[in-house]
Formats: sequence, C-alpha cells, structure tokens
Amino acid sequence: MGLLQHDQVLLLLGAPGAGKGTQARFLAETLGVPHVASGDLLREHRERGTALGRAAQGYMDRGDLVPDDLVLDVIADRLDQPDATRGALLDGFPRTVAQAQALDARLDQRGGGVRMAVYIDVPTEALVDRLAGRWLCRGCQTSYHTEFNPPAVANACDVCGGELYQRPDDKREVVANRVAVYLSDTLPVIDRYASQGILHCVDGNRSIDAVQESLLEVVADPEPEAIAV
Ligand SMILES: [Zn+2]
Repeated sequence: MGLLQHDQVLLLLGAPGAGKGTQARFLAETLGVPHVASGDLLREHRERGTALGRAAQGYMDRGDLVPDDLVLDVIADRLDQPDATRGALLDGFPRTVAQAQALDARLDQRGGGVRMAVYIDVPTEALVDRLAGRWLCRGCQTSYHTEFNPPAVANACDVCGGELYQRPDDKREVVANRVAVYLSDTLPVIDRYASQGILHCVDGNRSIDAVQESLLEVVADPEPEAIAV
C-alpha cells in the first residue's frame, strides 16, 4: 500500500494499555514499512555501541530521559535505512507537544513530514482495568490477567503451578498514575494533529480484530473529514 513516501511517517498514538504495540506491528506490516519504536531503537543502538548509542547510554544508565534531539537523530538514522524508502510507522514518539514540533521540523528539513496520526482511543477506566489486572508466575513468569486471561485455578500458574504475583508497576494506583501522565502530556499532541487535519481516531475499546479492521479503513481512505477529539 503506497500511503507513505520517503521521510513521511504515520504516527500511532495510544495510552499504555491501549494495545498500541500489537496494532503497530499489524499496521506496519500492512503498509510494508518498518515499525519504528523509539525506545527499542535506542536500546538497540546502545547494545551495538554505535555513536548514537554511546551518546544515549549515559542518560539511559542514569534513568534520565534521552534528549529529544538525540531521539530524533536515531529516528532520522532509521529513516535512512534501505527498508524505509517508503516511509515508516512511528510508535512511542512524540509524546509531548515539544517533541511533536521538533519532529515536524526535522522531517520538514528532510522534505517529508507527518502524513497521518492515528489515535487508538480507550477510556481511562478501561486502560486502568487492562493494566492493573496483570499477574505473573514467580516460577516461569507466564503472564495472566484477572479478567481477560485468568489461570484455571486462582492464584496458581497453569504451566508450572507456581504462585502468581503482581509487579509493583502493575498495581492499580501506579498504572492509574501512568495513564494520567500520558494523557496530560499527549492529549495536546493529539489536538495538534487534529487541528492540522491529519488525525484519525479509532475506538480501541473493542476486540483486536475490530480495531484492526478500523485501522485498515483509515489507511485505505486517508482524507476523511477532520475529526475533533
Ligand atoms: Zn509458572
């Protein structure tokens, strides 16, 4: 599908728990473009010991955010790879308006731009329910969900019988805070692309298949009426 050109990107936006990773892989494959997740890219550069990876290492080791310019260098480097001649799908960046502005400027310098932004919209309550229901086996780390994927016997692993536990990051108040931070940072980004007339909202509070179907419709017909958030 020839939606994108070189240095054009499709942005996939969605809060933690919105199912963005799954849908990003699906959409990138559909479009025949690389799935570019900025966090993965940074880790990859660090492991390979590239100049960009060494520059990012100090920040990552200290647990600090990697500066936007460095993230953009890594993304630009990825767009220079031979499999990105028909653009790329960006996942996980930008998350703030400042990042969105910097991304626009960088792509503009390269003669490209953001072709389309797709927001997978899931109500806050549903996001928290999805994220907070996750439990792991102490023995084999198999993951369960109290609602969507419960073990056969309560609090015991189906695979090895091990005890289930919840990571501190998956506790309800922690995930609620993570979702709130995402929304307060990123809803202005979504407004920005809405006002540029390139935003598409997809109802993410449905099955994976139903969401995929909507995504296919969006990329097949990229110029509908602007949708307000
Ligand atoms: Zn187990």
